[in-house]
Amino acid sequence: MTQQITHTQLEEAVKQSPRKWVYLFSEGNASMRALLGGKGAGVAEMTNAGLPVPPGFTITTEVCNAYYEEQKQFPAGMWDQALAALQIVEAQTGKQFGGRENPLLVSVRSGAKFSMPGMMDTVLNLGINDETVQGLIALTQDERFAYDAYRRFIQMFSKIVLNTNPQDFEHILETYKQRTGAKTDAEIPAQALKELVVEFKQVAERASGQPFPTDVYEQLRKAIEAVFASWNNKRAIDYRNFNKIPHNLGTAVNVQSMVFGNMGSDSGTGVAFTRNPSNGEHEMFGEYLLNAQGEDVVAGIRTPSKISRLHEDLPEVYRQFLEIAKRLEAHYRDMQDLEFTVEHGQLYMLQTRSAKRNARAAIKVAVDMVREGLITPEEALQRVEPAHVYQLLLPRFDEAEKRKATAEGRLLAKGLNASPGAAYGKAVFDADRAEELGKAGVSVVLVRPETSPDDVHGMLVAKGILTARGGATSHAAVVARGLGLPCVAGCEGIRVSDSERLFRVNNSNSVIREGDDISIDGATGEVFQGRIQTVDSDFAREGDLQTLLGWADKVRRLGVWANADYPRDAQRAVAFGAEGIGLCRTEHMFMEQERLPIVQKMILARSPQERQAALDQLLPFQRSDFKGIFSAMVSPTTGEGYPVVIRLIDPPLHEFLPSYEELLVEVTRLETQGGHEAELQEKKAMLEAVGSMREMNPMLGLRGCRLGLLFPEINIMQTRAILEAAAELAREGKKLQPKIMIPLVGHVNELREVRRQLEGVAAEIARESGGAIAYKFGTMIEVPRAAVTADQIAPVSDFFSFGTNDLTQTTFGYSRDDAEGKFLLKYVDGLDVPGQKDKVKILPTNPFQTLDREGVGQLVAMAVAKGRHTNKDIELGICGEHGGDPESIAFCHEVGLDYVSCSPFRVPVARLAAAQAALHQSERDK
Ligand code: ADP
Ligand code: MG
Ligand code: MG
Repeated sequence: MTQQITHTQLEEAVKQSPRKWVYLFSEGNASMRALLGGKGAGVAEMTNAGLPVPPGFTITTEVCNAYYEEQKQFPAGMWDQALAALQIVEAQTGKQFGGRENPLLVSVRSGAKFSMPGMMDTVLNLGINDETVQGLIALTQDERFAYDAYRRFIQMFSKIVLNTNPQDFEHILETYKQRTGAKTDAEIPAQALKELVVEFKQVAERASGQPFPTDVYEQLRKAIEAVFASWNNKRAIDYRNFNKIPHNLGTAVNVQSMVFGNMGSDSGTGVAFTRNPSNGEHEMFGEYLLNAQGEDVVAGIRTPSKISRLHEDLPEVYRQFLEIAKRLEAHYRDMQDLEFTVEHGQLYMLQTRSAKRNARAAIKVAVDMVREGLITPEEALQRVEPAHVYQLLLPRFDEAEKRKATAEGRLLAKGLNASPGAAYGKAVFDADRAEELGKAGVSVVLVRPETSPDDVHGMLVAKGILTARGGATSHAAVVARGLGLPCVAGCEGIRVSDSERLFRVNNSNSVIREGDDISIDGATGEVFQGRIQTVDSDFAREGDLQTLLGWADKVRRLGVWANADYPRDAQRAVAFGAEGIGLCRTEHMFMEQERLPIVQKMILARSPQERQAALDQLLPFQRSDFKGIFSAMVSPTTGEGYPVVIRLIDPPLHEFLPSYEELLVEVTRLETQGGHEAELQEKKAMLEAVGSMREMNPMLGLRGCRLGLLFPEINIMQTRAILEAAAELAREGKKLQPKIMIPLVGHVNELREVRRQLEGVAAEIARESGGAIAYKFGTMIEVPRAAVTADQIAPVSDFFSFGTNDLTQTTFGYSRDDAEGKFLLKYVDGLDVPGQKDKVKILPTNPFQTLDREGVGQLVAMAVAKGRHTNKDIELGICGEHGGDPESIAFCHEVGLDYVSCSPFRVPVARLAAAQAALHQSERDK
């Protein structure tokens, strides 16, 4: 009856307002996350599923936005709706808010659309004051409980609403524990708690300069406002920036009747995952504390018990909890993260949300749930992030060695696991020194109090990064993840001294000085003294991952190829599931020790004959290189080969020669010393040759197809080596179709001329070996002019491969190394601009990592359209690093490329990302 009347009151209040601002839990559901926040939608869904949830209501995210729009005023009608809803909760619980007899206490809980753990605030036990506390005592006959609830309220309200220093309260609590001989907060006797409440209030009043609010409605209003304020605290803003959560979503506020876990040993509070979040095992994973409330479990005030022990402490509650957990998992069809409280043996559910999990757990849970019939393979594919696949395949520390190091006391400290991967190296304390050593080939781990953009040049060469301060979104963490470097951030167990070039370990006498070996595990946050060997992961033994990628292969449209220069890389790529080589660079083959002198002779040749002699020497080397790569790409059973794209020589020739500066020093030294005539003449000739090849801007100079046009003999030798290798394999019964790729074409005439020359070679070889060898001829699209004139180039080309590294450089006009070293990361991180409070961001992401859709991407799209227009059979792929980046892969799918080619380690990532792109597309097409 009462409920009926008050429901009408809420409806009335809504009618009087411009909008419905307040929803009872019974009025919401899981689909209303944007409006009610994740927490509100979760409790609503549980309420309607008939689970035991303390009654309450949600003030919508729209109120938060309206509150900020209206200069921090509640929007019209909202307060009345909240009061009407509160009356319903009073009726549902039979308690009165502010009542002396049977007082209703509530929690005021934040909750945005996307969970932002620990970023915003929650106040418990609101509605308590000197009068209502008497009501609580009379009702429960438990003075200790009532004053414990009271002191908790003052503590939380002060911290969150009055912005006082939480340490002040901790300090007092500590002295009370000592005075009363209590080992934990739960043992402080009632009388002491009563005195403590008086002291707490004084502290709050002194700190805030105002009397502590006794009016429960004022408490409520202020707590709601504090939750809104917490949406825009610095922590929350940083978190959203990092996780790319929009700032205009707002937070909801949940006002919920309290249940009490601090009512003795048949009460308690806990958190649990429905499966193990670190390995995905199908077992309940969590912790609880008896006689405790709220955050006590996570706050580490007492040591919580493993959830399975609840079976002994409160068997009936445990049974019920397992059943509810199972129901929720089935209901949401995903692993859940649950919060619960037990009051006098009665279980209450306070939160459910889809659980955060690490890479291994994400993959195992997704695959298991398909096996359990909970989700489809397509859904499983969307549950795993491509980054998870990558993380699972990163090198990690040898487990046995790590255990040994721990047993030997070499585990120094533990910080935040800010960027996964494991690394060891010499500790170095400044970026310049790190750069110097790193460039000299020494493994270094850069250790800093915290990093700034001034440290980036050192980070670029380091094997790993360790900082003493800063969180998961600190500069060090963000940059390290961008670079794919292991990083342990915010390692508060160490103190770094820049000036002394060392760090001290807080809990021991250990000191690590510059040059000492350390090992860091970015996946766990552990820091060790000395070296721990790393091991590569074993893809073949990752059964769940293999299963998942098998599903991915059925769904994706894009082919996944790999960039590989050596047979070893090609084999690895095939093992990872690559279906071709999209880029085999040939210049590495020139760099090898025994060959470099021949290459130099070829470059410095004074006559075509001399050059040809050197090239003749190189031919057998190249032929065996190509045979090696091709063989790795031929199936041993069928003899069928995957496609292999070989790029003819690309870099400027001086890269094969000694540096001009060093030669100059040498020549000067020899001249002043005298007596080394022969050596001097040789060096002088070299100096002259190198000098004549010096370029102002080698990246834009004599390289790529330009080289092959000026020195056709090189291209001809390479083509011969490729086709002869293929012919030899054909004689062994192996079918393989090489694809010859010409770099850096900007004008169709360049390609036409190279093609004419190479066709001549092919015809020659066909005559020699008595049969034509099938091959394809194509070009890279990596300068803007090639993209713009793709319709002219396509008829001369069997395939295009987008070289998006160079295309990004030439479209932006950046040289990558200079840009990343000097300004690009600041562009992405944000510039400090005088007079501007916030950093000014120039670019959303590093365009060398994620393809710039709006600029570079437009050129790609244009070349695809124009290329297909004049050559409908043209094969289109990408071989820049973007081919391994999930967001860029989605773009490649959308513009209709045939394949992506990426580094072998990225192949599994690309298989999943390509499948996700296809699923995404079919959802959009629906
Ligand atoms: P967070 O978003 O930080 O997890 P919550 O709003 O979930 O904050 O609150 C934290 C904890 O406070 C909950 O896990 C629960 O233990 C406790 N809590 C919140 N509301 C209530 C309530 N109505 N009754 C009892 N405990 C509550
Ligand atoms: Mg919570
Ligand atoms: Mg290039």
